[in-house]
Amino acid sequence: MTEPTYISLSGPVLVSACLAGRTCRFDGSSSKDALVASLVAAGRAVLVCPEVDGGLGTPRPPAEIVGGDGKAVLEGRARVVTEAGLDVTEAYLAGARRALDAARRSGATAAILKSRSPSCGKGGVYDGSFSKTLRAGDGVTAALLEAHGLTVLTDEET
Ligand code: SF4
Repeated sequence: MTEPTYISLSGPVLVSACLAGRTCRFDGSSSKDALVASLVAAGRAVLVCPEVDGGLGTPRPPAEIVGGDGKAVLEGRARVVTEAGLDVTEAYLAGARRALDAARRSGATAAILKSRSPSCGKGGVYDGSFSKTLRAGDGVTAALLEAHGLTVLTDEET
């Protein structure tokens, strides 16, 4: 697969760990992506899983953002909750901060993240109704990384 020109031709790239093949998705699966695999093979991938890094286990109940998108969560105007109503916002925020720390430590200025995730999604996330309905917006980690100047792409854009 040809690397897109808007990702630096050298240097580290932050990636969702599930795209690298780690079985860290909420249901214990992965979402291995060919471009991310090539970055791993080249030693350029910096793996983060904000939900696990924020303290959640695998498997874990799926969660969605209620009341907005990831930017709204960062601003305290929306929350991340499971379908059973458990508020997991603090874990999502902690994981986002860990991802930003990893970007800063590694020098990564771009990220390839998993689409539609309430943490990693960009451009569209589920709307909190647990009905597979998307709303415009980013996940919590994607929003934080973009707010700090990283270029964020999803696996569906690469
Ligand atoms: S989408 Fe992000 S938070 Fe979800 S499993 Fe993948 S890396 Fe972890």
